[in-house]
Amino acid sequence: MIRRLWVQLALAFALVTMLSVASVAWLANTRASADFRTFLAQSQVQQFDLIPRLAAYYTAHHDWENVETVFADIRGMGPRGMGPGGPGMMRGPLDLALADAAGRVVYPSASGNAPASYLSRDDMRQALPIVVDGAPVGYLVVRVQRDTALSTAAQRFLDQLNQTLIQAGFIAGALGLILGIIIARGLTAPLDRLAHAAHHLAAGDLTQRAPVAGPVEVAGAAEAFNTMAASLEEAEQTRRRLLADIAHELRTPLTVIQGNLRALLDDVFPLEKDEIATIYDETLLLSRLVADLRELTLAEAGQLRLNRAAVDMAAIIAQSVALFNAQAIEKGITLHTDCEPHLPPVLADADRVAQALNNLLSNALRYTPEGKTVRIVAARAHRAPCAAPDADMVCIRVIDTGPGIAPADLPHVFERFWRADRGRARAQGGTGLGLAIARQLVLAHGGAIGVESEPGKGACFWFTLPVADTPVTSQPLDASYSW
Ligand code: ADP
Repeated sequence: MIRRLWVQLALAFALVTMLSVASVAWLANTRASADFRTFLAQSQVQQFDLIPRLAAYYTAHHDWENVETVFADIRGMGPRGMGPGGPGMMRGPLDLALADAAGRVVYPSASGNAPASYLSRDDMRQALPIVVDGAPVGYLVVRVQRDTALSTAAQRFLDQLNQTLIQAGFIAGALGLILGIIIARGLTAPLDRLAHAAHHLAAGDLTQRAPVAGPVEVAGAAEAFNTMAASLEEAEQTRRRLLADIAHELRTPLTVIQGNLRALLDDVFPLEKDEIATIYDETLLLSRLVADLRELTLAEAGQLRLNRAAVDMAAIIAQSVALFNAQAIEKGITLHTDCEPHLPPVLADADRVAQALNNLLSNALRYTPEGKTVRIVAARAHRAPCAAPDADMVCIRVIDTGPGIAPADLPHVFERFWRADRGRARAQGGTGLGLAIARQLVLAHGGAIGVESEPGKGACFWFTLPVADTPVTSQPLDASYSW
């Protein structure tokens, strides 16, 4: 129980309150008893008309010489006066000192001020002024010993004051404890709920969320927890979707292979090269799918090793065009390249950039009808009509004259395994991963990627890469990825 945070906080709260009240009470008590004694002594002095007597003495003599006689007179006056055992509130003799207008002691007290010394600041504060013709001519100091005995009534008054202070201390302590419990519970209850939600999350319930309540810090922790839980839930959903997608994508070629092999075994199909070639094509698709998946998961996990250097984008484009030239000629498609003069080098991994560009180019060639054109344009991003105009970026656009993409499909084209026409895309050898891979590769470089399209008028896929601040240091080497 004592290890619970709210109990510790409440106890600490009560302890601090009680300690502060106790120290205030102790100070007040000490001060009150000293001030009370001074007050009593001064009232006794006033009772005895000592001030007017001293004033009269000064008026008569114009100085304080032989003032002892006044004090001697007073002492001689017995019970009402200052002598021992008087009927006043204080028992015992009063200790008096007199100083002149400058504070110099002219009648020393028995316990302190030596003759001709000056009164301390404390004495001056408590001294009773002796005023003649409106000007202070001296100061009477009434000294009180701390242990001076008080009369029964005075002692009772002080005892009552003490008792009241002690009661106040206990009441404040109790209030401190109650307040401490309320505040501590208010603080720890949201933490308890957060811990509860965390336990459920750890047990596999990813829908658990903690209520965002309590002090800002605790509410902030709950919010952070909820964000973490949401991303865990999303990651789990993505993982499940990916597994389902992969299973689905693998099943199709495997079913084709299995079916064809069965037909061959059952002599439904003759054992001819054409039939075996169909099966072989499906195995090619399978291995491409596996390769693409590996690439994509590595890129998504941020584990792609990028050898970034200042590379000439025009050279990468020329290399890609060379790679796809034969395919373009075969389809009667014209490939145009349009690079801005003095295009600055980009800071990129040449092979990965070429891979992203080749994915876009292979799609453009796949979807562009015979006899049409595909253009590759490279320019500084702020000069290109691209959605990320930034002077520190180079924008590369692959513009085709194919059927384009429906507006409703545009937000999905970069999703893995998404295809506008699943059957047709598969038949054309697409894995549905090309654009997802291109997107991850571009993002890994700190660039952006997008598409604009008007159905029937073709599509424009673009991506940006950061400008390098050094001259070209690397040329694209690897053109071995096959499309
Ligand atoms: P796939 O291997 O199926 O081509 P991608 O990820 O490369 O996979 O493309 C996803 C889908 O986006 C394609 O199936 C197609 O529907 C659409 N797409 C991609 N490029 C183009 C383009 N240039 N013109 C029209 N549609 C395209």
